[in-house]
Amino acid sequence: MNWQQFLTEKVLGECYHEGSSLLNAGYHCRKCDKAFSVNRTFDNRNDLMDLYQKVYEDGKWDEFFWFSASHCKPKREGLGCSETTAWLFCLDGSSYEEKCKMVAGFYGWNEQRDPVIDKNSGAYGDN
Ligand SMILES: [Zn+2]
Repeated sequence: MNWQQFLTEKVLGECYHEGSSLLNAGYHCRKCDKAFSVNRTFDNRNDLMDLYQKVYEDGKWDEFFWFSASHCKPKREGLGCSETTAWLFCLDGSSYEEKCKMVAGFYGWNEQRDPVIDKNSGAYGDN
């Protein structure tokens, strides 16, 4: 499972579609039996805001905010300042993917445990 699939299925509770191409009609998903065009890519504002909204609905926004702030390196003021929120919401229009990946990390995603990437590593498993 890659981190995009993790966010789609484990965090947002949606189907990460897999399927075959239909001629001129997008794709048909063999898991949910629906037509689809693309999966979420988590490199844009829409996907990021859906994730933040989900964190909020899960009652974890406060916890997440301080988790995320620890990833921010404010230059002028301290953590939790306006600089942190501008960074968190990608107000410069970039790094959406980095923030989405951070949400994945918050929910327990660990790249080292990806069995596809690292199936023979000692890091894989519950430790
Ligand atoms: Zn599907």
